[in-house]
Parts: sequence; structure tokens; C-alpha cells
Amino acid sequence: MHKKARILTYHRIGHPRDGKSYEALTVSPQRFKAQLRAMHFLGCAFGGLDAMTAWLRDGDDLPLRYTVLTFDDGFEDLYEHAFPLLQKEGIPAIIYLVSDCTEDKWQRQRSPSPLRLLNWSQIREMADRGIIFGSHTRTHATLTLCTDEQLHDEVANSKKVIEDKLGRAVTHFCYPFGKLNDRVVDEVGEAGYTTACTTKKGSVLPDVDLLRLPRLKVGKRMGLGRFLLRMTLRS
Ligand SMILES: [Zn+2]
Repeated sequence: MHKKARILTYHRIGHPRDGKSYEALTVSPQRFKAQLRAMHFLGCAFGGLDAMTAWLRDGDDLPLRYTVLTFDDGFEDLYEHAFPLLQKEGIPAIIYLVSDCTEDKWQRQRSPSPLRLLNWSQIREMADRGIIFGSHTRTHATLTLCTDEQLHDEVANSKKVIEDKLGRAVTHFCYPFGKLNDRVVDEVGEAGYTTACTTKKGSVLPDVDLLRLPRLKVGKRMGLGRFLLRMTLRS
């Protein structure tokens, strides 16, 4: 009887020296590789959010240690360091894009951050090879502070932009800074998203609210021991 899933939150996979910001949220390629190996060793079943949603809806058992990999913000180093590994191992993943901030726009808006984001040609290539793309709004706005009009623009129009660029439906959302309230969640549901990820810590259980999914964050400071514990603990 397996009734639990884990959604892991990653940001950058790369070398912290590549950029000064986001260092705490950067996992080195070597460590990422070791984590994937550890998850294989533990018998984790990698899957996507659609399959997870279907299992939960039907009340079926999930495969043992069902694990969903999510990557927030769409940093460019995912293309170099995560994509080839995921491809090689056949592991599904979802990347949440800030639709107006691909390529170097984030760099300009978030100066002095020198970090680049994925460009549309990389995004298209990854989408063609099975990576799922979700929305992380248009500008990474704090949605709880937005007017109703801004909220709609960030939530609904980011979906449209990514759908137009990729020619695929975008049904998964992720709240910037983990900021949400009932008004924000209602907007996300009305825009047609089927799932939305938060920064709330926890595993996914059958009674979960699909628009308030908890996750487990993996950052630079998490060693393999702690990672293994997190993947096997009951909670
Ligand atoms: Zn973010």
C-alpha cells in the first residue's frame, strides 16, 4: 500500500562559482548525480504530476516511493547539467518558467545577478524530449500583493505565452516565493491549472489539495545522508 508521493524542489544544478546569487539553492552536478543514484538505489519510481494526479483522483495505490522532480525558475544551467542526466536515465521532470524572463531578462531585472535563464530554443528542445514545462508567472511577482488585474495577467497570461511558444497545454503552476492565499489559489484554478506547487514542506498524501501541493526542497547544504533520510522518512 503506497499512498504517498514526494515532490522535490530544485533550482539550479551547476557550480556556485558561476554566479553569486542563488548559491544556497544550487546543487552541484556531481551531487545531483549522486542523488539520482541514491533514489534509484532506494527504488524510487520517478513520474510526473499528471500520473500522480490520476492516481490520487482514482484512489489507487502509487508506485513505491513515487517521486516527482521539479525545478523552479528555469535557470540555463539546467540545460547543460540536468537535462543530459535526466535524458540518459529516462527520468521525467517539470521546469517552472517565468514566461517574461527567459534568456537574459532576469539578469536585467534582478541585477547584479549574472545568472541566465533558459532560452526558447533550449526550452523547445527539452519539451520535444519529454521535459514538462509549467508556469511560475510572468515576472515572478508576489501574487498576494497583486491587484486582481495583475494577478490574472501573471497567472493566466503566463500560461498562454508558454502554450503559444511550445504548442502544448500548460497545466501545472508554481507560486513565486511560495506566496499564496485563497484569492490567488482561486485564480490559479480558474485559469485551468490542474496542480500548483507551494514551498510548504511535506509529502503528498491522498487528501492533498492539488492547488496547494507540498514539496521537499533540495539545496546546496543537503548532504547525501540527509537526502537519504528525507527520501525514506515517514513524513
Ligand atoms: Zn521562483
